[in-house]
Amino acid sequence: KQSNQQWQARREAAVTPGVGNSLQVYIEKARNAELWDAEGKRYIDFASGIAVVNTGHNHPKVIEAVSAQLEKFTHPCFQVTPYGSYIELAEKLNKLVPISGPTQTLLMSTGAEAVENAIKVARVATGRTAVIAFRGAFHGRTLLGMALTGKVQPYKKGYGPFPGGIFHAPYPASYLGISELQAIGALQGIFAADVSPDEVAAIIIEPVQGEGGFYAASAHFLQQLRTLCDEHGIVLIVDEIQSGFCRTGKTFAIEHSGVEPDLVTMAKSLAGGFPLSALVGKQALMQKAQAGGLGGTYAGSPLGIAAALAVVELIEEEQLNLKAQAQGAWVTQHLQQLAERFDCIGDVRGLGAMVAIELVEQRDRHKPDKVLTQALVQEAGRQGLVLLSCGVRGNVIRFLIPLTASKEIVTEGLNILSSALEVV
Ligand code: PLP
Repeated sequence: KQSNQQWQARREAAVTPGVGNSLQVYIEKARNAELWDAEGKRYIDFASGIAVVNTGHNHPKVIEAVSAQLEKFTHPCFQVTPYGSYIELAEKLNKLVPISGPTQTLLMSTGAEAVENAIKVARVATGRTAVIAFRGAFHGRTLLGMALTGKVQPYKKGYGPFPGGIFHAPYPASYLGISELQAIGALQGIFAADVSPDEVAAIIIEPVQGEGGFYAASAHFLQQLRTLCDEHGIVLIVDEIQSGFCRTGKTFAIEHSGVEPDLVTMAKSLAGGFPLSALVGKQALMQKAQAGGLGGTYAGSPLGIAAALAVVELIEEEQLNLKAQAQGAWVTQHLQQLAERFDCIGDVRGLGAMVAIELVEQRDRHKPDKVLTQALVQEAGRQGLVLLSCGVRGNVIRFLIPLTASKEIVTEGLNILSSALEVV
């Protein structure tokens, strides 16, 4: 049997350091919101992977569905000898997205691939090439994903050049000191100075920026974006890879705004722990893709599809949106109490159960404290709580607790957070 330290030493020799390493513990078992490492130590998981198990680790219904699929078949490629479950899931996702007209679906494996394909569809459907993304955005680690991503370190440095034709507009976030009005003004500025709106294929936005630091765009801003897209025939893509599948108290975060997107990307909690992603969008756009232009060997894996079909049923069965609303309110209230006790907490924000705290220097509360943030992640880990940081300035702790976690477990985790804050 190997200790965490032994695994870490072997890892350093065998695995590229390009894969980040937050906690040096090696997991052997996971159930709902609890993990156990190679040394038998228990952790409460406040990260859900990275927002992957809104339904909890190893949800029995997901495991049962995947086990049943394992017995049947694991892989005929959908492009070669198709299977019905792909169509079943497509029909369900077509109904699930907040788009009123007819929709169609493409299944892939990772979030970055869903994003890549959203841009491909927007381009082929409009015959235009330019794309507008937002500063602070994160859309994946492929070359196009990185081109769309706003945050430079650690994602982009040294990996360029990236595909061209991508323009970054400011996201209306407090740390940028940018109001909604200024953000819309900046978009108009890009149209005036950099690229004509009739050359723009798509605007891609996270309704709540995830890696960028958990900033929710207001309904008003998203509605203005929709109007701008309508005026200029631009495809509006919402990236719901982190915010989707009930995390914010609605199935998709964009639903809080009442805005209908043209294309939606989803992954992570779509398949409760299995690699599956989807691009779902207006039929008029999705239908423009030529046969053979989209897809991939493993795209729409039968195992991921079986898991996702179970997850879609769990939205109702587990009342995931209600759970997210209740958990979000409970956690936010707790974090606000902690913010009163600890000066280093400069802000508590989020939407539903997508909540974050921002850590600041105690002497100058305008300054982000990245070092303290990292220390808190390590100390919480030592005390048995998995925390995950994010933010353009690296000083945000995000809470992505399985929505199925009991109130007792959530409270236990929040108590560990409080005692870790005492130490750092
Ligand atoms: N888009 C958003 C909003 C994300 O949060 C992520 C992953 O964190 C991605 C895209 C990329 O997904 P993946 O890591 O599955 O490629």
